[in-house]
Amino acid sequence: MTTEKISGLSAAIPTDLLIGGKWVAGSEGARFDVIDPADGKTLCTVADATAADATAAIDAASGVLPEFAAMPPRQRAEILRTAFEAMTKRLDDIALLMVRENGKALTDARAEATYAAEFFRWYAEEAVRIDGNYTTAPAGANKILVTRQPVGVALLITPWNFPAAMATRKWGPAIAAGCPTILKPAAETPLTALLIAQILMEAGLPDGAINILPTKKAAPISETALADPRVRKLSFTGSTEVGRSLLKLAADNVVNTSMELGGNAPFLVFGDADLDAAVDGAMLAKMRNGGEACTAANRFYVEESVADRFAEKLAAAMSGMTMGRGDDDGVKLGPLVNEATVAKVDRLVTEAVTGGARALVGGERPDGDGFFYPATVLVDVAEDADCLTEEIFGPVAPIVTFTSESEAVRKANETPFGLVSYVYTGDLGRGLRVSEALESGMVGINRGVISDPAAPFGGMKQSGIGREGAHDGLLEFLETKYVAFTP
Ligand code: NAD
Repeated sequence: MTTEKISGLSAAIPTDLLIGGKWVAGSEGARFDVIDPADGKTLCTVADATAADATAAIDAASGVLPEFAAMPPRQRAEILRTAFEAMTKRLDDIALLMVRENGKALTDARAEATYAAEFFRWYAEEAVRIDGNYTTAPAGANKILVTRQPVGVALLITPWNFPAAMATRKWGPAIAAGCPTILKPAAETPLTALLIAQILMEAGLPDGAINILPTKKAAPISETALADPRVRKLSFTGSTEVGRSLLKLAADNVVNTSMELGGNAPFLVFGDADLDAAVDGAMLAKMRNGGEACTAANRFYVEESVADRFAEKLAAAMSGMTMGRGDDDGVKLGPLVNEATVAKVDRLVTEAVTGGARALVGGERPDGDGFFYPATVLVDVAEDADCLTEEIFGPVAPIVTFTSESEAVRKANETPFGLVSYVYTGDLGRGLRVSEALESGMVGINRGVISDPAAPFGGMKQSGIGREGAHDGLLEFLETKYVAFTP
Protein backbone atom coordinates (compact mmCIF):
# COMPACT_ATOMS: atom_id res chain seq x y z
CA MET A 1 0.00 0.00 0.00
CA THR A 2 1.47 3.34 -1.07
CA THR A 3 0.93 6.22 1.32
CA GLU A 4 1.92 9.89 1.34
CA LYS A 5 2.63 12.22 4.22
CA ILE A 6 0.96 15.54 3.49
CA SER A 7 2.28 18.47 5.53
CA GLY A 8 0.23 19.26 8.62
CA LEU A 9 -1.71 15.95 8.66
CA SER A 10 -1.45 13.61 11.65
CA ALA A 11 -0.97 10.44 9.54
CA ALA A 12 0.03 9.38 6.03
CA ILE A 13 -2.87 8.85 3.62
CA PRO A 14 -3.42 6.03 1.09
CA THR A 15 -2.71 6.95 -2.54
CA ASP A 16 -3.50 3.65 -4.30
CA LEU A 17 -6.74 2.34 -5.78
CA LEU A 18 -9.10 0.50 -3.44
CA ILE A 19 -10.47 -2.65 -5.08
CA GLY A 20 -12.09 -5.55 -3.21
CA GLY A 21 -10.81 -4.31 0.16
CA LYS A 22 -7.18 -4.10 -1.01
CA TRP A 23 -5.10 -1.03 -1.80
CA VAL A 24 -3.55 -1.77 -5.21
CA ALA A 25 -1.36 0.01 -7.76
CA GLY A 26 -3.68 -0.59 -10.71
CA SER A 27 -3.29 -2.70 -13.84
CA GLU A 28 -0.70 -0.45 -15.49
CA GLY A 29 1.01 0.84 -12.33
CA ALA A 30 0.75 4.42 -13.63
CA ARG A 31 0.41 7.41 -11.28
CA PHE A 32 -0.66 11.03 -11.77
CA ASP A 33 0.14 14.30 -10.01
CA VAL A 34 -2.16 16.06 -7.58
CA ILE A 35 -1.47 19.81 -7.65
CA ASP A 36 -1.58 22.33 -4.77
CA PRO A 37 -3.60 25.24 -6.25
CA ALA A 38 -1.92 27.74 -3.91
CA ASP A 39 1.42 27.43 -5.72
CA GLY A 40 0.78 25.18 -8.73
CA LYS A 41 3.32 22.62 -7.46
CA THR A 42 2.88 18.86 -7.18
CA LEU A 43 1.53 17.80 -3.79
CA CYS A 44 1.89 14.04 -4.35
CA THR A 45 1.08 11.32 -6.88
CA VAL A 46 -1.88 8.93 -6.93
CA ALA A 47 -2.46 5.60 -8.71
CA ASP A 48 -4.15 6.05 -12.09
CA ALA A 49 -7.01 3.58 -12.70
CA THR A 50 -7.69 1.95 -16.08
CA ALA A 51 -10.62 0.19 -17.74
CA ALA A 52 -9.21 -3.13 -16.46
CA ASP A 53 -9.30 -1.75 -12.92
CA ALA A 54 -12.93 -0.74 -13.47
CA THR A 55 -13.75 -4.34 -14.40
CA ALA A 56 -11.88 -5.63 -11.33
CA ALA A 57 -13.86 -3.21 -9.14
CA ILE A 58 -17.16 -4.33 -10.70
CA ASP A 59 -16.16 -7.98 -10.06
CA ALA A 60 -15.50 -7.13 -6.40
CA ALA A 61 -18.67 -5.07 -5.98
CA SER A 62 -20.97 -7.59 -7.64
CA GLY A 63 -19.31 -10.40 -5.67
CA VAL A 64 -20.20 -8.81 -2.33
CA LEU A 65 -23.68 -7.62 -3.40
CA PRO A 66 -25.68 -10.61 -2.02
CA GLU A 67 -23.90 -10.43 1.35
CA PHE A 68 -24.12 -6.64 1.58
CA ALA A 69 -27.79 -6.51 0.53
CA ALA A 70 -28.62 -9.15 3.16
CA MET A 71 -26.63 -7.49 5.97
CA PRO A 72 -29.00 -6.42 8.77
CA PRO A 73 -29.81 -2.73 8.34
CA ARG A 74 -28.71 -2.09 11.93
CA GLN A 75 -25.25 -3.43 11.08
CA ARG A 76 -24.93 -1.14 8.05
CA ALA A 77 -26.19 1.71 10.23
CA GLU A 78 -23.53 1.05 12.84
CA ILE A 79 -20.75 1.05 10.25
CA LEU A 80 -21.95 4.48 9.13
CA ARG A 81 -22.21 5.70 12.73
CA THR A 82 -18.65 4.48 13.45
CA ALA A 83 -17.43 6.24 10.30
CA PHE A 84 -19.22 9.45 11.39
CA GLU A 85 -17.43 9.35 14.72
CA ALA A 86 -14.06 8.61 13.09
CA MET A 87 -14.52 11.47 10.64
CA THR A 88 -15.38 13.79 13.51
CA LYS A 89 -12.17 12.76 15.29
CA ARG A 90 -10.13 13.34 12.10
CA LEU A 91 -11.89 16.59 11.19
CA ASP A 92 -8.67 18.63 11.26
CA ASP A 93 -6.91 16.20 8.91
CA ILE A 94 -9.84 16.06 6.48
CA ALA A 95 -10.15 19.86 6.44
CA LEU A 96 -6.44 20.45 5.93
CA LEU A 97 -6.27 17.85 3.18
CA MET A 98 -9.01 19.73 1.31
CA VAL A 99 -7.08 22.98 1.72
CA ARG A 100 -4.03 21.28 0.21
CA GLU A 101 -5.66 19.65 -2.82
CA ASN A 102 -8.59 21.99 -3.51
CA GLY A 103 -7.23 25.32 -2.24
CA LYS A 104 -10.32 26.37 -0.27
CA ALA A 105 -9.97 28.48 2.88
CA LEU A 106 -9.63 26.48 6.10
CA THR A 107 -12.93 27.85 7.48
CA ASP A 108 -14.73 26.56 4.37
CA ALA A 109 -12.87 23.26 4.61
CA ARG A 110 -13.81 22.76 8.26
CA ALA A 111 -17.45 23.54 7.49
CA GLU A 112 -17.39 21.03 4.64
CA ALA A 113 -15.74 18.29 6.74
CA THR A 114 -18.50 18.69 9.36
CA TYR A 115 -21.23 18.72 6.71
CA ALA A 116 -19.69 15.67 5.01
CA ALA A 117 -19.55 13.65 8.25
CA GLU A 118 -23.21 14.51 8.92
CA PHE A 119 -24.24 12.48 5.86
CA PHE A 120 -22.92 9.37 7.62
CA ARG A 121 -24.80 10.23 10.83
CA TRP A 122 -28.00 10.98 8.91
CA TYR A 123 -27.87 7.81 6.81
CA ALA A 124 -26.94 5.71 9.87
CA GLU A 125 -30.34 6.82 11.15
CA GLU A 126 -32.09 6.27 7.78
CA ALA A 127 -30.67 2.75 7.17
CA VAL A 128 -33.15 1.33 9.67
CA ARG A 129 -36.09 3.30 8.21
CA ILE A 130 -36.39 1.49 4.86
CA ASP A 131 -40.12 1.06 4.71
CA GLY A 132 -42.66 -1.03 2.83
CA ASN A 133 -46.41 -1.42 2.61
CA TYR A 134 -49.06 -4.13 2.91
CA THR A 135 -52.57 -3.39 1.70
CA THR A 136 -55.66 -5.06 0.26
CA ALA A 137 -56.36 -4.48 -3.43
CA PRO A 138 -59.56 -2.39 -3.86
CA ALA A 139 -61.41 -5.33 -5.48
CA GLY A 140 -60.50 -7.48 -2.47
CA ALA A 141 -59.12 -10.37 -4.53
CA ASN A 142 -55.51 -10.07 -3.43
CA LYS A 143 -52.98 -8.37 -1.19
CA ILE A 144 -50.45 -5.77 -2.33
CA LEU A 145 -47.09 -6.20 -0.66
CA VAL A 146 -44.52 -3.49 -1.39
CA THR A 147 -40.90 -3.86 -0.34
CA ARG A 148 -37.65 -2.14 -1.21
CA GLN A 149 -34.41 -3.74 -2.34
CA PRO A 150 -30.98 -2.28 -3.07
CA VAL A 151 -30.75 -1.27 -6.72
CA GLY A 152 -27.39 -3.05 -7.05
CA VAL A 153 -23.83 -2.09 -7.92
CA ALA A 154 -23.51 1.69 -8.29
CA LEU A 155 -21.00 3.87 -10.11
CA LEU A 156 -20.44 7.14 -8.24
CA ILE A 157 -18.71 10.11 -9.89
CA THR A 158 -17.88 13.24 -7.90
CA PRO A 159 -16.53 16.76 -8.68
CA TRP A 160 -13.57 18.59 -7.15
CA ASN A 161 -15.39 21.47 -5.47
CA PHE A 162 -16.58 19.54 -2.39
CA PRO A 163 -14.17 16.58 -2.26
CA ALA A 164 -15.55 15.22 1.03
CA ALA A 165 -19.26 16.07 1.00
CA MET A 166 -20.00 14.99 -2.57
CA ALA A 167 -18.53 11.55 -1.75
CA THR A 168 -20.29 11.08 1.61
CA ARG A 169 -23.61 12.34 0.15
CA LYS A 170 -23.45 9.29 -2.16
CA TRP A 171 -21.67 6.75 0.07
CA GLY A 172 -24.06 7.37 2.98
CA PRO A 173 -27.31 6.37 1.23
CA ALA A 174 -25.63 3.66 -0.87
CA ILE A 175 -24.29 1.94 2.26
CA ALA A 176 -27.58 2.45 4.10
CA ALA A 177 -29.41 0.77 1.19
CA GLY A 178 -26.90 -2.10 0.82
CA CYS A 179 -25.48 -1.10 -2.58
CA PRO A 180 -21.79 -1.82 -3.25
CA THR A 181 -20.17 1.14 -5.02
CA ILE A 182 -17.31 2.16 -7.27
CA LEU A 183 -16.33 5.80 -6.74
CA LYS A 184 -14.42 7.80 -9.32
CA PRO A 185 -13.38 11.05 -7.60
CA ALA A 186 -12.27 14.12 -9.57
CA ALA A 187 -8.63 13.95 -10.70
CA GLU A 188 -7.95 17.34 -9.07
CA THR A 189 -9.01 16.13 -5.59
CA PRO A 190 -8.75 12.35 -5.09
CA LEU A 191 -6.98 12.46 -1.70
CA THR A 192 -9.90 13.39 0.55
CA ALA A 193 -12.04 10.56 -0.85
CA LEU A 194 -9.15 8.11 -0.35
CA LEU A 195 -8.81 9.14 3.30
CA ILE A 196 -12.58 8.80 3.91
CA ALA A 197 -12.57 5.43 2.11
CA GLN A 198 -9.90 4.26 4.58
CA ILE A 199 -12.09 5.46 7.46
CA LEU A 200 -15.10 3.56 6.04
CA MET A 201 -13.11 0.34 5.64
CA GLU A 202 -11.81 0.64 9.21
CA ALA A 203 -15.42 1.12 10.35
CA GLY A 204 -16.15 -2.45 9.24
CA LEU A 205 -17.42 -2.46 5.66
CA PRO A 206 -17.05 -5.83 3.93
CA ASP A 207 -14.36 -6.03 1.23
CA GLY A 208 -15.71 -4.83 -2.11
CA ALA A 209 -18.57 -2.78 -0.62
CA ILE A 210 -16.70 0.37 -1.58
CA ASN A 211 -14.12 0.59 -4.34
CA ILE A 212 -12.35 3.75 -5.38
CA LEU A 213 -10.73 4.51 -8.71
CA PRO A 214 -8.87 7.82 -9.01
CA THR A 215 -7.80 8.47 -12.59
CA LYS A 216 -6.75 11.13 -15.05
CA LYS A 217 -8.67 9.28 -17.79
CA ALA A 218 -12.31 9.25 -16.70
CA ALA A 219 -13.97 8.12 -19.93
CA PRO A 220 -12.64 4.51 -20.00
CA ILE A 221 -13.95 4.02 -16.45
CA SER A 222 -17.47 5.28 -17.15
CA GLU A 223 -17.63 3.56 -20.55
CA THR A 224 -16.56 0.22 -19.08
CA ALA A 225 -18.87 0.48 -16.07
CA LEU A 226 -21.96 1.65 -17.94
CA ALA A 227 -21.53 -1.06 -20.58
CA ASP A 228 -21.40 -3.76 -17.89
CA PRO A 229 -24.87 -5.14 -17.10
CA ARG A 230 -23.84 -5.74 -13.48
CA VAL A 231 -23.76 -1.95 -12.90
CA ARG A 232 -27.36 -0.88 -12.17
CA LYS A 233 -26.94 2.66 -10.91
CA LEU A 234 -25.10 5.85 -11.83
CA SER A 235 -24.97 8.67 -9.31
CA PHE A 236 -23.16 11.65 -10.81
CA THR A 237 -22.36 15.12 -9.52
CA GLY A 238 -20.66 17.50 -11.91
CA SER A 239 -21.29 19.70 -14.90
CA THR A 240 -24.40 19.48 -17.07
CA GLU A 241 -22.18 18.92 -20.11
CA VAL A 242 -20.51 15.78 -18.71
CA GLY A 243 -23.81 14.67 -17.14
CA ARG A 244 -25.50 14.80 -20.53
CA SER A 245 -22.83 12.54 -22.09
CA LEU A 246 -23.10 10.08 -19.19
CA LEU A 247 -26.90 9.97 -19.55
CA LYS A 248 -26.39 8.94 -23.18
CA LEU A 249 -24.03 6.15 -22.10
CA ALA A 250 -26.44 5.04 -19.37
CA ALA A 251 -29.26 4.82 -21.89
CA ASP A 252 -27.85 1.70 -23.58
CA ASN A 253 -28.33 -0.52 -20.52
CA VAL A 254 -31.18 1.64 -19.15
CA VAL A 255 -29.14 2.29 -16.01
CA ASN A 256 -30.93 4.00 -13.11
CA THR A 257 -29.46 7.53 -12.82
CA SER A 258 -29.26 10.32 -10.25
CA MET A 259 -27.76 13.49 -11.69
CA GLU A 260 -26.67 16.53 -9.64
CA LEU A 261 -25.61 19.00 -12.31
CA GLY A 262 -24.67 22.63 -12.83
CA GLY A 263 -26.47 25.68 -11.48
CA ASN A 264 -26.94 29.35 -12.28
CA ALA A 265 -28.54 30.58 -9.07
CA PRO A 266 -30.39 33.90 -9.06
CA PHE A 267 -30.25 35.97 -5.85
CA LEU A 268 -33.25 38.33 -5.65
CA VAL A 269 -33.27 41.33 -3.32
CA PHE A 270 -36.57 43.17 -3.02
CA GLY A 271 -36.83 46.79 -1.87
CA ASP A 272 -38.50 45.73 1.40
CA ALA A 273 -35.62 43.40 2.42
CA ASP A 274 -33.34 43.98 5.40
CA LEU A 275 -30.32 45.05 3.32
CA ASP A 276 -27.70 44.14 5.92
CA ALA A 277 -29.17 40.65 6.22
CA ALA A 278 -29.28 40.43 2.41
CA VAL A 279 -25.59 41.31 2.21
CA ASP A 280 -24.73 38.73 4.89
CA GLY A 281 -26.75 36.14 2.95
CA ALA A 282 -25.15 37.21 -0.33
CA MET A 283 -21.68 36.73 1.15
CA LEU A 284 -22.59 33.17 2.15
CA ALA A 285 -24.39 32.34 -1.09
CA LYS A 286 -21.62 33.82 -3.24
CA MET A 287 -18.42 33.31 -1.29
CA ARG A 288 -18.76 29.92 0.41
CA ASN A 289 -15.96 27.90 -1.17
CA GLY A 290 -14.71 30.99 -3.03
CA GLY A 291 -17.74 30.84 -5.33
CA GLU A 292 -16.86 27.31 -6.49
CA ALA A 293 -20.23 25.82 -5.57
CA CYS A 294 -23.14 24.62 -7.68
CA THR A 295 -25.30 26.54 -5.20
CA ALA A 296 -23.28 29.76 -5.60
CA ALA A 297 -25.33 32.88 -6.29
CA ASN A 298 -24.43 33.55 -9.92
CA ARG A 299 -26.68 36.53 -10.73
CA PHE A 300 -27.86 39.25 -8.35
CA TYR A 301 -31.19 40.87 -9.26
CA VAL A 302 -31.80 43.85 -6.99
CA GLU A 303 -34.84 46.17 -6.94
CA GLU A 304 -33.77 49.49 -8.45
CA SER A 305 -34.72 51.54 -5.37
CA VAL A 306 -32.10 49.77 -3.20
CA ALA A 307 -29.59 48.61 -5.83
CA ASP A 308 -26.92 51.28 -5.21
CA ARG A 309 -27.00 50.81 -1.45
CA PHE A 310 -26.91 47.01 -1.76
CA ALA A 311 -23.99 47.18 -4.22
CA GLU A 312 -21.97 49.50 -1.94
CA LYS A 313 -22.54 47.32 1.11
CA LEU A 314 -21.72 44.14 -0.81
CA ALA A 315 -18.53 45.72 -2.22
CA ALA A 316 -17.47 46.73 1.31
CA ALA A 317 -18.01 43.17 2.57
CA MET A 318 -16.22 41.66 -0.45
CA SER A 319 -13.19 43.92 0.06
CA GLY A 320 -12.74 42.23 3.47
CA MET A 321 -12.16 38.82 1.82
CA THR A 322 -8.43 38.46 2.47
CA MET A 323 -6.97 36.24 -0.25
CA GLY A 324 -4.10 33.79 0.23
CA ARG A 325 -3.11 30.19 0.94
CA GLY A 326 -6.15 28.56 2.52
CA ASP A 327 -4.57 27.78 5.90
CA ASP A 328 -2.70 31.07 6.36
CA ASP A 329 -3.93 33.24 9.23
CA GLY A 330 -6.88 35.48 8.39
CA VAL A 331 -7.38 34.09 4.88
CA LYS A 332 -11.02 33.95 3.83
CA LEU A 333 -10.54 33.35 0.09
CA GLY A 334 -8.19 30.63 -1.14
CA PRO A 335 -7.05 30.02 -4.72
CA LEU A 336 -9.41 28.56 -7.31
CA VAL A 337 -8.81 24.94 -8.16
CA ASN A 338 -6.80 25.22 -11.37
CA GLU A 339 -5.62 27.45 -14.20
CA ALA A 340 -8.65 26.69 -16.38
CA THR A 341 -11.02 27.90 -13.66
CA VAL A 342 -9.14 31.20 -13.11
CA ALA A 343 -8.91 31.74 -16.88
CA LYS A 344 -12.68 31.24 -17.19
CA VAL A 345 -13.46 33.70 -14.38
CA ASP A 346 -11.04 36.23 -15.89
CA ARG A 347 -12.68 35.83 -19.31
CA LEU A 348 -16.20 36.35 -17.91
CA VAL A 349 -15.18 39.52 -16.03
CA THR A 350 -13.27 40.94 -19.01
CA GLU A 351 -16.22 40.26 -21.30
CA ALA A 352 -18.65 41.96 -18.87
CA VAL A 353 -16.41 45.03 -18.48
CA THR A 354 -15.98 45.30 -22.25
CA GLY A 355 -19.78 45.27 -22.45
CA GLY A 356 -20.06 48.25 -20.06
CA ALA A 357 -19.86 46.76 -16.54
CA ARG A 358 -17.85 48.46 -13.76
CA ALA A 359 -15.96 46.62 -11.01
CA LEU A 360 -16.65 48.21 -7.61
CA VAL A 361 -14.01 45.94 -6.10
CA GLY A 362 -11.65 43.34 -7.59
CA GLY A 363 -11.86 42.61 -11.30
CA GLU A 364 -8.19 41.95 -12.02
CA ARG A 365 -6.23 38.74 -11.90
CA PRO A 366 -3.13 39.18 -9.69
CA ASP A 367 0.42 38.29 -10.78
CA GLY A 368 2.34 35.52 -9.06
CA ASP A 369 2.08 31.79 -8.40
CA GLY A 370 -1.14 29.91 -7.71
CA PHE A 371 -4.61 30.16 -9.16
CA PHE A 372 -5.91 33.28 -7.43
CA TYR A 373 -8.75 35.62 -8.35
CA PRO A 374 -9.99 38.39 -6.00
CA ALA A 375 -13.49 38.99 -4.67
CA THR A 376 -15.24 41.09 -7.34
CA VAL A 377 -18.50 43.06 -7.55
CA LEU A 378 -19.74 44.14 -11.00
CA VAL A 379 -22.47 46.75 -11.60
CA ASP A 380 -24.04 48.06 -14.84
CA VAL A 381 -23.82 44.53 -16.23
CA ALA A 382 -25.41 44.11 -19.68
CA GLU A 383 -28.33 41.70 -19.61
CA ASP A 384 -26.72 39.48 -22.24
CA ALA A 385 -23.32 39.27 -20.47
CA ASP A 386 -21.85 35.77 -20.43
CA CYS A 387 -21.40 35.93 -16.63
CA LEU A 388 -25.21 35.91 -16.29
CA THR A 389 -25.74 32.88 -18.51
CA GLU A 390 -22.67 30.74 -17.64
CA GLU A 391 -21.77 29.31 -14.25
CA ILE A 392 -19.01 31.69 -13.04
CA PHE A 393 -17.62 29.26 -10.42
CA GLY A 394 -15.53 32.01 -8.85
CA PRO A 395 -15.75 34.99 -6.45
CA VAL A 396 -17.58 37.36 -8.82
CA ALA A 397 -20.97 38.98 -8.09
CA PRO A 398 -22.68 40.62 -11.10
CA ILE A 399 -25.58 42.92 -10.17
CA VAL A 400 -28.56 43.71 -12.41
CA THR A 401 -31.62 45.77 -11.40
CA PHE A 402 -35.36 45.15 -11.70
CA THR A 403 -38.47 47.23 -11.04
CA SER A 404 -41.28 44.70 -10.44
CA GLU A 405 -41.82 41.27 -8.90
CA SER A 406 -42.85 39.76 -12.23
CA GLU A 407 -39.73 41.12 -13.94
CA ALA A 408 -37.55 39.64 -11.17
CA VAL A 409 -39.15 36.21 -11.52
CA ARG A 410 -38.96 36.31 -15.32
CA LYS A 411 -35.24 37.18 -15.26
CA ALA A 412 -34.51 34.56 -12.61
CA ASN A 413 -36.18 31.86 -14.71
CA GLU A 414 -34.47 32.85 -17.98
CA THR A 415 -31.98 29.98 -17.84
CA PRO A 416 -31.93 26.28 -18.70
CA PHE A 417 -30.67 25.61 -15.15
CA GLY A 418 -32.81 25.28 -12.03
CA LEU A 419 -30.83 24.19 -8.99
CA VAL A 420 -31.36 26.85 -6.33
CA SER A 421 -32.64 30.43 -5.98
CA TYR A 422 -32.37 32.94 -3.14
CA VAL A 423 -35.01 35.54 -2.23
CA TYR A 424 -34.59 38.39 0.23
CA THR A 425 -37.78 40.23 1.21
CA GLY A 426 -39.43 41.58 4.35
CA ASP A 427 -42.75 40.08 3.23
CA LEU A 428 -42.96 36.34 3.83
CA GLY A 429 -46.10 36.13 1.67
CA ARG A 430 -44.11 37.50 -1.23
CA GLY A 431 -41.23 35.17 -0.41
CA LEU A 432 -43.51 32.13 -0.62
CA ARG A 433 -45.28 33.40 -3.76
CA VAL A 434 -41.98 34.05 -5.54
CA SER A 435 -40.49 30.73 -4.39
CA GLU A 436 -43.42 28.88 -5.98
CA ALA A 437 -42.88 30.74 -9.26
CA LEU A 438 -39.13 30.12 -9.37
CA GLU A 439 -38.10 27.18 -11.54
CA SER A 440 -35.55 25.65 -9.19
CA GLY A 441 -35.44 22.56 -7.01
CA MET A 442 -34.49 24.60 -3.93
CA VAL A 443 -35.17 28.13 -2.67
CA GLY A 444 -33.65 30.00 0.25
CA ILE A 445 -35.96 32.68 1.66
CA ASN A 446 -33.86 35.18 3.62
CA ARG A 447 -31.13 32.53 3.86
CA GLY A 448 -27.83 32.32 2.02
CA VAL A 449 -27.16 28.63 2.77
CA ILE A 450 -29.66 25.86 2.11
CA SER A 451 -27.60 22.63 2.18
CA ASP A 452 -28.55 20.17 4.93
CA PRO A 453 -28.18 16.37 5.01
CA ALA A 454 -31.79 16.12 6.20
CA ALA A 455 -33.15 18.13 3.25
CA PRO A 456 -33.71 16.91 -0.34
CA PHE A 457 -31.00 18.53 -2.48
CA GLY A 458 -31.39 18.66 -6.25
CA GLY A 459 -32.37 20.56 -9.32
CA MET A 460 -35.05 21.08 -11.95
CA LYS A 461 -34.53 21.54 -15.69
CA GLN A 462 -30.90 20.92 -16.75
CA SER A 463 -29.64 21.05 -13.16
CA GLY A 464 -30.42 17.42 -12.62
CA ILE A 465 -32.58 14.39 -11.99
CA GLY A 466 -33.29 13.00 -8.53
CA ARG A 467 -32.42 14.18 -5.03
CA GLU A 468 -29.60 13.63 -2.54
CA GLY A 469 -29.89 13.93 1.22
CA ALA A 470 -33.06 13.39 3.27
CA HIS A 471 -35.05 10.13 2.91
CA ASP A 472 -35.29 10.88 -0.84
CA GLY A 473 -31.54 10.29 -1.17
CA LEU A 474 -31.93 6.77 0.24
CA LEU A 475 -34.77 5.96 -2.18
CA GLU A 476 -32.41 6.73 -5.09
CA PHE A 477 -30.47 3.57 -4.15
CA LEU A 478 -33.55 1.36 -3.69
CA GLU A 479 -35.87 -0.41 -6.10
CA THR A 480 -39.53 -0.72 -5.21
CA LYS A 481 -40.81 -4.30 -5.54
CA TYR A 482 -44.52 -5.12 -5.59
CA VAL A 483 -45.72 -8.64 -4.84
CA ALA A 484 -49.36 -9.56 -5.47
CA PHE A 485 -50.73 -12.59 -3.65
CA THR A 486 -53.90 -14.09 -2.33
CA PRO A 487 -53.52 -15.27 1.28
P1 NAD B 1 -17.07 17.95 -14.37
O1 NAD B 1 -18.39 17.61 -14.97
O2 NAD B 1 -16.01 18.44 -15.27
O3 NAD B 1 -16.47 16.68 -13.63
C1 NAD B 1 -17.24 15.99 -12.66
C2 NAD B 1 -16.68 14.59 -12.54
O4 NAD B 1 -16.92 13.93 -13.77
C3 NAD B 1 -15.18 14.51 -12.29
O5 NAD B 1 -14.92 13.43 -11.46
C4 NAD B 1 -14.64 14.26 -13.68
O6 NAD B 1 -13.39 13.61 -13.69
C5 NAD B 1 -15.71 13.34 -14.21
N1 NAD B 1 -15.76 13.18 -15.66
C6 NAD B 1 -15.48 14.07 -16.63
N2 NAD B 1 -15.65 13.49 -17.83
C7 NAD B 1 -16.06 12.22 -17.60
C8 NAD B 1 -16.39 11.10 -18.41
N3 NAD B 1 -16.37 11.16 -19.73
N4 NAD B 1 -16.74 9.95 -17.80
C9 NAD B 1 -16.79 9.86 -16.46
N5 NAD B 1 -16.49 10.86 -15.64
C10 NAD B 1 -16.13 12.03 -16.21
O7 NAD B 1 -17.39 18.96 -13.18
P2 NAD B 1 -16.35 19.63 -12.19
O8 NAD B 1 -15.65 20.70 -12.96
O9 NAD B 1 -15.54 18.61 -11.48
O10 NAD B 1 -17.34 20.24 -11.11
C11 NAD B 1 -17.99 21.43 -11.29
C12 NAD B 1 -19.40 21.20 -11.80
O11 NAD B 1 -20.10 20.35 -10.90
C13 NAD B 1 -20.20 22.47 -11.84
O12 NAD B 1 -20.97 22.52 -13.00
C14 NAD B 1 -21.09 22.38 -10.61
O13 NAD B 1 -22.27 23.13 -10.68
C15 NAD B 1 -21.35 20.92 -10.56
N6 NAD B 1 -21.76 20.52 -9.21
C16 NAD B 1 -23.06 20.19 -9.00
C17 NAD B 1 -23.49 19.85 -7.72
C18 NAD B 1 -24.92 19.49 -7.47
O14 NAD B 1 -25.19 18.90 -6.43
N7 NAD B 1 -25.85 19.79 -8.36
C19 NAD B 1 -22.57 19.82 -6.67
C20 NAD B 1 -21.25 20.17 -6.92
C21 NAD B 1 -20.85 20.50 -8.21
